[in-house]
Amino acid sequence: MSSSPTFTAAIEKIVERTPETRSFFLRVANGRKLSFVPGQFLSFLLPIGGQTLTRAYTIASLPEEEECFEICLNQVDGGPGSSYLFSLQEGAVLCFSGPWGSFVLDQLLDTEYIFIADRVGVVPFRPMIARLLTASGHHTARLLYAAPQAGDLLYAAEWQRWEGQCAHFSFQPLTDQCEPEKYSIEKVLLPYIEQHFVKEARQPSRQFYICGIGRPVLLLRDLLRGAGYERQAVKYEKW
Ligand SMILES: Cc1cc2nc3c(=O)[nH]c(=O)nc-3n(C[C@H](O)[C@H](O)[C@H](O)COP(=O)(O)OP(=O)(O)OC[C@H]3O[C@@H](n4cnc5c(N)ncnc54)[C@H](O)[C@@H]3O)c2cc1C
Repeated sequence: MSSSPTFTAAIEKIVERTPETRSFFLRVANGRKLSFVPGQFLSFLLPIGGQTLTRAYTIASLPEEEECFEICLNQVDGGPGSSYLFSLQEGAVLCFSGPWGSFVLDQLLDTEYIFIADRVGVVPFRPMIARLLTASGHHTARLLYAAPQAGDLLYAAEWQRWEGQCAHFSFQPLTDQCEPEKYSIEKVLLPYIEQHFVKEARQPSRQFYICGIGRPVLLLRDLLRGAGYERQAVKYEKW
C-alpha cells in the first residue's frame, strides 16, 4: 500500500441492524473530508492487547452523505478486531487510513450488472448500486443476496424500496431459513448462480461483482469464469 493520510473519527451513533451486526456512524475529526469511491474500504488501527491490529471495513454509506460515514460489521466469534469494535460506545475515537481498494465500479457499460452478496458482504454494494441507479445510461442492476434467514438480510427495506422505485433494479433475496452454522455459499448461492447464469441465458456482456466471506467466494468466481465470462467481468472481494 502507498502512503495515505491517517484520520481520526469519533463514533457518533451505533445502530444494531441484527443481534450480531452493527453500523457505526463516524464523524471525521477537525472537519476533514473523506473522499472515496463506492466500494472502497478503510484500514482501522485498533489498539488491542498492547498491539495495534489492522482491520479493513468497507464504507457502507455514499460519498454524498457528508455529515458522517458508515461502516457495518458483524461480531466474529473470538475475533479480536470485531469484538473490540463491538465493545466501544458512542463518543469513542478510532484511527484509520484510506480509502483503499479497487473493488469499485469501472466506467459504466450499457449492460446488466449482477451483484452477488454473501451475508455482510453486501456492504460495498449499497453505495455501488446507489451510484449505478442514479447514473445515466442503459444499464440494469440485479442484487442476489444470500443469508441464513430473512432477518439477517441487511438494508432489506432499502433494497425493496429501490426495487419499487427503479424499473432497472431487482432484488433477489436467497435464504435457507437455517441456523447460521448450517448456512453455506455452496448450498445457497452456488446452485442459484449455476442455474441462472451458467446453464441458462448466458449473456457474455454481463458484469459480475461478488463479495463474501472465505474461500467459497473463489468457487463462485471460478464457476462464472469457467462458464466463459471474461476474467475482468467477474470481480470479487473475499474477506
Ligand atoms: C477489503 C476488506 C473489506 C472488509 N470489509 C468488511 C466490512 O465492511 N464488514 C465486516 O464485517 N467485515 C469486513 N471485512 C472483514 C474484517 O476486516 C475482519 O476480517 C473481520 O471483522 C474479522 O476480524 P476479527 O479480528 O474480529 O477476526 P479474525 O480473528 O481476524 O478472524 C478472521 C476470520 O474471520 C473471517 N471473517 C472475516 N470477515 C468476517 C465476517 N464479517 N463475518 C464472519 N467471518 C469473517 C475471515 O475469513 C477469517 O477466517 C473486510 C475485509 C477486507 C479484506
